[in-house]
Order: sequence, then structure tokens, then C-alpha cells
Amino acid sequence: MELNEGFADLGLSEPLLAAVAGAGYEAPTPIQQKAIPLVLRGVDLLGCAQTGTGKTASYALPIIDILSAGTGKPRMPRCLILAPTRELAQQIADNFVTYGAKHSLRQALLIGGEGFTLQEAALGKDPDILIATPGRLIDMFERGRIMLGGVKVLVIDEADRMLDMGFIPDVERIVQTLPRIRQTLMFSATLGPEIKRLGKEFLINPKEVSVAPPATVAGTVSHAMILVDPEEKRAALRVLLRDEAVQSALIFCNRKKDVDIVSASLQRHGFDARALHGDMVQHRRTETLAAFKEGEVNLLVCSDVAGRGLDIEAVSHVINFDVPYNPEDYVHRIGRTGRAGREGQAITLATHEEAEAVGAIAALVNAAIPLTTPEGEPAELDAAPRERSRSRRGRRRREEPGTAEKRPTRQRKRTRDAEAAESKPKREKRRAGSSAEANEGQRDRRATKQSATDRDDERVTGLGDHVPAFLSDPLPALRPGAER
Ligand code: AMP
Repeated sequence: MELNEGFADLGLSEPLLAAVAGAGYEAPTPIQQKAIPLVLRGVDLLGCAQTGTGKTASYALPIIDILSAGTGKPRMPRCLILAPTRELAQQIADNFVTYGAKHSLRQALLIGGEGFTLQEAALGKDPDILIATPGRLIDMFERGRIMLGGVKVLVIDEADRMLDMGFIPDVERIVQTLPRIRQTLMFSATLGPEIKRLGKEFLINPKEVSVAPPATVAGTVSHAMILVDPEEKRAALRVLLRDEAVQSALIFCNRKKDVDIVSASLQRHGFDARALHGDMVQHRRTETLAAFKEGEVNLLVCSDVAGRGLDIEAVSHVINFDVPYNPEDYVHRIGRTGRAGREGQAITLATHEEAEAVGAIAALVNAAIPLTTPEGEPAELDAAPRERSRSRRGRRRREEPGTAEKRPTRQRKRTRDAEAAESKPKREKRRAGSSAEANEGQRDRRATKQSATDRDDERVTGLGDHVPAFLSDPLPALRPGAER
């Protein structure tokens, strides 16, 4: 297929072309060029495209035209879009508002973490399009609020993420309630064997379109890694944030607990930082995201689930406070910068302990990412780091007694851990695996397990890094809010 067509050549209607022009899009992106004509033809589609490639418009635009050509029945939406995270679902809903500006289609957004009342009211207005996370959709279905028997088009967005998060059983349950005769579009950033298997389950004779090999990174992003000691990460982060031309940054941590710790630490040092992760109540997540989008705060410390798929233009930097465990998360994280042709910078703070994860990233992106010391000297990851880093720490403590307060004592660490645990709002009591938050929790537990396994390899003095559970009980005088 020739890939030099404009929007007008793709078969979209005039009002849609006007809406696209209104959105400021001059030419379709490759996924749009490939997918739009196929979706308009009514075939099933398996699309390999990352968030950031314009994939939402590649299905939203033709769906708007398809739906406008027909009429719906009361209380029976004709299109269902499933997204793994609330943020992605919200972005899809925003895109539908933009693209549907010249049409009178109605939509409802069903996401967890928010009250049912408004969403039920939206359902009462006979939406044509439902955009939902699987858990909330099932809740609404079980409450008898939706009938899915009129769905003609189903979109499963970020199928790979659905799989990672354990949502596939929920998706299967939902699909069973849909008419068998329908058009199904499934998008995924990767097309591994599992995704292909799901494709066979949900799609019939799909056309496959792919716009970039899995896990490629935008050419507008430059990468760097800085080798630091584990306890120096926060200080190194501050130096980076002061030195680099950071206008706005997403700072990724592997664990939610660290998201809270890093953002609180940055705030204490006078930075405009906020935390965003799955344990926060939804209205705080929404407020935080809005504050970042509006530029009221310029640093957002987030977890993978919360940060994935965030579509915010003009994020100048992505900083990986931790090297992600899963190399594909690296690609997703850094895809938050260098968007829409802008320049972006991805900087990763790596420790010797993270050497394996760094290697996996280099293999996935098929490029060595330059590694330097914080001073900018070339550096190398050390295969047998632990002893070395420990003795270096000991030496530094002896040499720089004044810096001791920067390194948390075990007691301070306990307090922070207890505070982080106490600050968590009560989890929605949902069955495991049916919400992004539950899965983020699982990920945390997996991470904890993983680091526990790693620690088994070490020679340990005294308690080593292990903190027995009873030591983590908050001391009365050190409860959050109490004076230290
Ligand atoms: P998505 O991959 O759907 O998350 O889209 C990423 C970003 O690209 C969004 O901010 C869209 O508004 C934007 N976008 C989508 N299509 C186009 C286009 N043809 N030209 C310029 N920007 C676009």
C-alpha cells in the first residue's frame, strides 16, 4: 500500500475530515493510513502499534463513520472499547470527543475508582459508544445497568497490557456476552505468541497491520544511563533535575512505595513533584494528572501502570529512577517523551545490581545505551558489584561523616515504610486480577519476592538488608504527622 495518502484518500466522511482538520492533524500517521480503510471495510483487525503512533484515531475515526451511518436502540451501545487502565480509557474518551465534534454520537466512560452514580446517569442517556476498563464494565453488567447485545464493534486496546495485568479472563467474560456477529479490532504494542493466540480467540480472519517492529523507540528520544550507588539515587535525581534542561519530567519507579518516597523526598527538597500510582483514589489521580498537564507541577513520579500510555505533549524528560524489570516497560516509559516530533530525553539511573535488566533493555531496543558516571565519565556495569559497592559505602561514611544524615538510618527507613503503608487507601474489595491496582499490587509483591531471591545470593552480616516484620510496626512517636 502506498503510504503517502492524505486523510481525504482514506474514505472518511466530510464531517470527520473537518473534525480531523480541527484537531490540527495535517496527515495521517502510518497506522492510520493502514488501518482506517480496513476498519471502514468492516473486517477484523489485529494492529501492532504502540500508544503514541496515533492508533486511537486509527480506529476511532472509522468507527465514528460506521456508527453514524446506522442508528442505535435505547440502552444498547453499538461500540465497546476496552482499555486496561483508567488513564488510557480517559484518553480514548477525550479523543472520541475531539474526533466526534461534528457528529451527535453519545459516549459513556466506565472506569473504576469513581462513583457509580454519574456513570449510571451516562448509561441512562443511551450511549452509542462505551469506553471501559474491564472490571468496572463487569460491575455495571452485574448490576444490570448495561445490555451488550447490540455491540457491533468491539475494540480491545493494549491487549498486551491486558495480558500482563491478568485481565484476559475478564475480557473473555465480556466477549461472551457480545453478539457473535460483530467487528473486532485488537491493538497491541507487541505481537507475541500469546497475543496471536488471543487474536485467534477474539477475531475472525483478521487483517494484520503493523507500524513499527515491536519495541522500537522514537528517533526523537535520546537515551542515557547514569551509574549510581543505590543509596545515591535520590541525590543523583536532584542533581539531574537541577542540571538538565528539565521543563517537565515523568519519573518512573518500579514500586508504588518508592513512588511515594521519591515524590515526598523531591518535595522536601523544594521541587514541584507529585506522585501518581494505582493506590491513590481516582479523584486524586485525576487531579494530579490535570495539575501536571496544566503545568502547575512539572514533575510527576509514577508507577508503570499509572504512567503507561499517558498522552501528554511536551514532556521534556523521562527519568527512570529504577531500571524497569520488564524491558518492554522501558519502551513504554520513554514513549512518554519525544512525542509528536518533539525532542525528548530519557535518562535512567542504573546500579550495578540492575545490570541484568540493563542488558535486557539493550537487547530489546537493539542498541547500547551510553552509560556514564554522574560526572559524565564513561562507566561500565560490574558483574560482581555487591561487595565493591558495600566497601565503597563504608569508605565514604568514614570519609564524609557530614553526609551521614543523607543516608537514612534503619529507623528512618522503618518510619517511611510504615508511613507509606499507612497512607494507602483501603483497596477496593474486588476479586484479584480484576483491576489495574490489584495487579500493580501483584507486581509489587513479585518485585519484593524477586529482590528477596536476589538477596539470598548475598553474604549477609547481622540482619543484612532484611527487616523482620515486627521492626516495621510504626513506633507511637513516629506515626505520620508526629514530630520527629
Ligand atoms: P495515540 O497513539 O492514539 O495515543 O496518539 C498519540 C498522539 O498523537 C495523540 O496526542 C494524538 O492527538 C496525536 N495524533 C494522532 N493522530 C495524529 C495525526 N495524524 N497527526 C498529528 N497528531 C496525531
